[in-house]
Amino acid sequence: MSADPIDRQIAELFANAGRILLVSHLRPDGDAVGAVLGLGLALRDAGKHVQMVLVDGVPSSFHHLPGNKEIRRKAEAPWDLSISLDASDLPRTGWAFGTEPPGLNIDHHVTNLNFAEVNLVDPTAEATCAILAERMPRWGLSITKPIAECLLTGIIIDTIGFRTSNMTPRALRQAAELMERGANLPELYRLGLVSKSYEAARYWGCGLGRLQNEDGLLWTVLRLSDRQAVGYNGNDDADLVNMLSGVESDLVVLLNEQKDSKVKVSWRAKPGLDVSKLALQFGGGGHPAAAGADIPGPFDEIQARVLAETRAFLAASRTEKGKAG
Ligand code: 5GP
Ligand code: MN
Repeated sequence: MSADPIDRQIAELFANAGRILLVSHLRPDGDAVGAVLGLGLALRDAGKHVQMVLVDGVPSSFHHLPGNKEIRRKAEAPWDLSISLDASDLPRTGWAFGTEPPGLNIDHHVTNLNFAEVNLVDPTAEATCAILAERMPRWGLSITKPIAECLLTGIIIDTIGFRTSNMTPRALRQAAELMERGANLPELYRLGLVSKSYEAARYWGCGLGRLQNEDGLLWTVLRLSDRQAVGYNGNDDADLVNMLSGVESDLVVLLNEQKDSKVKVSWRAKPGLDVSKLALQFGGGGHPAAAGADIPGPFDEIQARVLAETRAFLAASRTEKGKAG
């Protein structure tokens, strides 16, 4: 048994629950899908009745993951234990548990609000799936080949293929262990991260065509009409913001129009800037180098506000840096 008291507490929560609900965040990425499936399949192997829920469903880039067809968009009461994975606040789960806080919150966002009864939040972990890979054996859960595939996908996606600035040897060791359990790294890497549809490539073209560079602040927008014009089915940015983070700049902002009169904003920053603070100002969250927010309101208004705040943030960080240097 583990020496960390929270591991004992979590093992006990599992022991006392027959019916378990697992939920992750809106517009799920590979870490969200991987965490729900990785922990969900393991709890099922341990004899639990498991419900896995993603309010927005599973994006097509993760349809190869084992068990993904069992993920539902809505939870069905009753359950004995509810678990939030990879979400830093309750609205981010799409209110899948209702308004009640969940029993357990497992996450790696520095902006996590510790909103559950039991909170396991480790901002030094590269992915929620990395926390699971390390701790599931301590909770008495086995990592079989399909589970290893799901967890490795989460680590690959959140580190954008082992290249984010928070990478540690620990994550590489975890990835190696998951490979030893049967996960095929090049295949999961290709299917989850590299492979894109023709429509996604044309959608990138819409955003790339409008790309602006204001003295190190790189920004662009994606509109609902772009998706219609190119036949792109998702409501995300098809990873355009991550591609743009490779273009020389200090900070990248992408504004992505949503159906429900909201704008999804993504920020990416080079090391030394902490855009999670900027995202928090808009009711969002994330990590120092990558953060986002879902902001209600008319597109043009949100665009003006977000760009003004981001310019001010960048100017203030440069002044700070000037003083320090
Ligand atoms: P992305 O820009 O790729 O959607 O997200 C970057 C990071 O910010 C991810 O870690 C993601 O979980 C977090 N994030 C994105 N949007 C939101 C949001 O609306 N609320 C919160 N709390 N975090 C977000
Ligand atoms: Mn994550």
